[in-house]
Amino acid sequence: MDRLTQLSTHPAVRKMVRSLALPVTLPTLVRRQPEPEWQRPLLGRRVALTTFGKESPVLVRALCEAGADLFLLGDAASLRGAGDLAQARGRHAHSATVAEGDVSGVVSALLAVEAPACDALVLDVAKLGGSRALHTLLQPLLKKLPAHARLLLLTHVPDHASPRDVAEAQGVFGFAKSLAREVGRRAITVNALQVNGSVPREATAAAVAFFASDRARYVTSQRLMLSPVTRASSYSASLAGEHAFVTGAARGIGAAIAKTLAAHGANVSLVDLAGAREGAAATCADIRAAGGRAQFIPADVTKPAEVDAALDAAVAAFGPVRSLVNNAGITRDKTFAKMTAAHWAQVLDVNFEAAVNLTERVIERAPKGVLPRVVMLSSVAGIAGNFGQTNYALSKAALIGYAQRLSETMPELQVNVVAPGFIDTVLTREIPVLNREVAKQLIALLQAGEPEDIADVVAFLASPAANGFAGATLRVDGGMFIGQ
Ligand code: NDP
Repeated sequence: MDRLTQLSTHPAVRKMVRSLALPVTLPTLVRRQPEPEWQRPLLGRRVALTTFGKESPVLVRALCEAGADLFLLGDAASLRGAGDLAQARGRHAHSATVAEGDVSGVVSALLAVEAPACDALVLDVAKLGGSRALHTLLQPLLKKLPAHARLLLLTHVPDHASPRDVAEAQGVFGFAKSLAREVGRRAITVNALQVNGSVPREATAAAVAFFASDRARYVTSQRLMLSPVTRASSYSASLAGEHAFVTGAARGIGAAIAKTLAAHGANVSLVDLAGAREGAAATCADIRAAGGRAQFIPADVTKPAEVDAALDAAVAAFGPVRSLVNNAGITRDKTFAKMTAAHWAQVLDVNFEAAVNLTERVIERAPKGVLPRVVMLSSVAGIAGNFGQTNYALSKAALIGYAQRLSETMPELQVNVVAPGFIDTVLTREIPVLNREVAKQLIALLQAGEPEDIADVVAFLASPAANGFAGATLRVDGGMFIGQ
């Protein structure tokens, strides 16, 4: 975390900033507690959940397995089954009986809940009067939300949706995006989870359990799109015994991804330039010290022969690649007028061509029926564009299009994109202090992210738990005010 953000948490500094009436809003630091049990990211958290939908038994099961205690709101029939499910899994479950569409009933029940308040609210908007009822539903509850709360609004867009159905889901997204900015200073996140068509219930449940947890702490102001898939459904986030292949893994975000995948049970091949040996060795040592398995394989991802040799070595040690993370990336910033042809080509080669070539090679080598799960590292610059980054934005936007189309043409392949925003790394520390501070004021959570915030989302997308995401782009940017 950068020094200024750290300093801003000190009570004396906060008092001084307030007394000087400086035009800055101070953040609540995003909660990044080390979790000894990564399988249960909701341990010790209470999640309020409406149980009107058909998917609610699976949702209850997934949340309980993630360690949550529940506050269930639904009709008598749905509550009976749900409460029993939670108790059978050793979780506490309180409930309130309310009829479908009884928004005031839900509000009264949530207001009456004894302290501590709920850490996450998972609300099915359609079953609670639709988007117009959001004012009645959420305004009285806002002040009751504790810092770090997660608000997840579920919307459904059926296969043959009417224009009004689509407008409803889009409207909820616009609402979530705006509310996220009002509550971000308390490290509260607001997201809309849009379920398109007939998504397997397990996929919806796994996504809810992830985005209701602190693993999704830097994801806010987003529309999370779930699509029907042909892959087997599961809500396991485990990568136990699987082989994960991560490029650019010697430092920064790549190193954090390698460590997180190893913590989820994967055997990790870390690929980076030969010159990065020292950093890669340190990351491998950290993984081994934590009981994991890792190996460093030097390779330049733009050189096909080196990539082939790296894949041979990786597969020989750990078996077929099950998760591929295309993280290696570079910037060579200059205005377009001043950009050299060499810098233009270099960025496209590393950021786009190398990622595509590696993906195709890994797919070609995959044993029948065991396709890899692929995660591409794009950037918010690829969504919103950025001054002086025409080459970078082109490469990162192209990755988004590639993943989208690849997923359409190979629906059995789990391929998705993570678009980080402003992340505290060697790269962004070079930005002048004043520019950094201005940039942070344009983020709903008012702070830069950490490499681990990206790594947690990558680990989710690299696991079977994310099998409802198909060619999707997830922004992990604390709710930046730019782009879509
Ligand atoms: P870093 O520069 O810290 O790490 C990237 C790693 O990739 C480095 O170890 C680098 O090696 C390696 N690499 C570069 N070229 C090659 C190559 N040809 N073959 C193999 N490895 C290579 O970047 P970050 O951790 O900050 O970023 C990781 C990814 O996230 C990138 O794709 C980046 O574009 C993206 N991103 C980052 C953001 C941020 O705020 N940091 C924001 C948005 C997106 P070496 O150091 O030797 O060059």
